[in-house]
Amino acid sequence: MNKKEMAAFKKVLLEKRADLLEIVRTKKECDLRDVEIGDEIDSASQNVEKEMLFELADNEKVMLDAIESALRRIEKGTFGSCESCRDKIADKRLNAIPWVRYCMPCQSKAEKPK
Ligand SMILES: [Zn+2]
Repeated sequence: MNKKEMAAFKKVLLEKRADLLEIVRTKKECDLRDVEIGDEIDSASQNVEKEMLFELADNEKVMLDAIESALRRIEKGTFGSCESCRDKIADKRLNAIPWVRYCMPCQSKAEKPK
């Protein structure tokens, strides 16, 4: 991968990271507001909503980790290689998910039930 391609991926990753951080920040504000209102009647439905929020926050955290890791690989110049087998990740896969950590064979191995 040349420097120009690398820079293009870096831009996408930085934008995606900014988006995610904004979402996480907005969610935190919502959580705080919930606590302040503290409506007991609605607490059951609020709990369900909060659980969904936490679940989403987990997904975003995993994604942020993957993006940080991809940005580190760009700095090191190893971006585009699988974190497991070090093989080159297919361009099509990288273009679809620039923060992807593993090549297709490693990913499917990891996802197989044990
Ligand atoms: Zn691999």
